[in-house]
Amino acid sequence: MNKSLLFLFLIGITSCSTGKKQSPKVFFAGEIVNPTNDYVVLYKHSQKLDSAKLDENNRFSFELDSIQEGLYNFSHAPEYQYIYLEKGDSIQIRLNTMDFDESLVFSGIGGDINNFLLDLFLANEKEEFRMLSKNYKLDAYEFHAEIEKLRKEKLAALQELSLESELSVEALKMAEVSINYTYFNYKEIYPFEHRKRTGKKLTNALPSSFYAYRQNVSFDNKNLNYLKPYYNFVKSHFKNLSYLGCETKCGVEEEKVTNQLHFNRHKLSLIDSLVIESELKDNLFRNVAIEYLLRGRDTERNNEIFIQDFYLRSGNNRHIAEVNELYEGVRNIQPKKDIPNLFVTSMNGDKISLKEIAKNKKVAFYFWTGTKQRYFRDVVKRVAELSNTVEDYTFVGINYETDDTTWKGMVHNANLEKSNQYKADDFEKLAKVLIFNQRNKCIITKDAKIVDAFTTMWAANF
Ligand SMILES: [Zn+2]
Repeated sequence: MNKSLLFLFLIGITSCSTGKKQSPKVFFAGEIVNPTNDYVVLYKHSQKLDSAKLDENNRFSFELDSIQEGLYNFSHAPEYQYIYLEKGDSIQIRLNTMDFDESLVFSGIGGDINNFLLDLFLANEKEEFRMLSKNYKLDAYEFHAEIEKLRKEKLAALQELSLESELSVEALKMAEVSINYTYFNYKEIYPFEHRKRTGKKLTNALPSSFYAYRQNVSFDNKNLNYLKPYYNFVKSHFKNLSYLGCETKCGVEEEKVTNQLHFNRHKLSLIDSLVIESELKDNLFRNVAIEYLLRGRDTERNNEIFIQDFYLRSGNNRHIAEVNELYEGVRNIQPKKDIPNLFVTSMNGDKISLKEIAKNKKVAFYFWTGTKQRYFRDVVKRVAELSNTVEDYTFVGINYETDDTTWKGMVHNANLEKSNQYKADDFEKLAKVLIFNQRNKCIITKDAKIVDAFTTMWAANF
């Protein structure tokens, strides 16, 4: 069947969308308004399952013969979103890339649960903002009441949907779990955010039922591993337990971590003893390693102690290659090491290495891209300020992922010194080698040796 015929056929069956699910097949199709590329890609967890090319009307379609019910991702790069699929689904989407999540609408068989999950996702984005601006400041009793109120509202809405629409047991369960863990996560985060915002410590002053849900938390359910609310919750939970453990047993005070090596090893040992499901365990171990190494703030010796501990506990981790690569990368840009021998392109089109640029002087490298105009203005302003106060430094801008015309136009309009502006030819490689852990990253060098590779133009010690 060709794609436009398939599309007509889909419109035919989705117009009577409340029908029973009979076919074992899954149809997933739709229209992308203002496409940013030619493809829609479907993923299960992080694995690519299939891709569909947009036709001349910007429509795509997937037909899947047999799939396991559960959460999938679809992406229209660079954006992506969840989709819950089960046998017999015939789902249509429409979305506009100008406003990706807000414009997304599902229809057809299986559409209802997906609209619900999307509404949940959008509501959470708003609530997260409210948590930070207001709710984390509340005392523990008020906070507990607020969270329970929000959680029950969502569960009631789900209940209503399940009366109106035929949801499968699995779909209902998935939505319920998503709601619960979203709110449990806020509770795990609460003690830290509360202290940060009010200066008050309160681990002893919690209502008795505050963490009651912990008795029923499972660390052995494969179906939950890639459910974002659950995974976020588990990460916060182990952070919480580690702080508490360190505070009672290891003499850490006021929920402040002063020894990252100790704290992260403590976390590894907690995960090791509590998590059963092997993929979840690997993912959590990886997360601890990446967060610890990416901070880039510990000594080379401590990094080594950490990685040896990681190998002991998780030497056959399915993400070991990635962790090793990061460890090596971090090790290569420690103080006193040579700046990595990467090549960039000057505004005249000449290839030149970072080593060459940095030799016989003090350099602060900063990085920017044409799509983040605001950051570009900020960093240009900062370079101007610093140029007046720290005269012995050369400020070198490395642009990435911007077309030549825009790059040169922006440099010109900002009145930047052209001889100090370069462009990364292969940003992916550069990001890997220089451990691009934050957009406002800055690398300080002296005579082509690293002084600090994990700072910013605002935090750097010039
Ligand atoms: Zn500890």
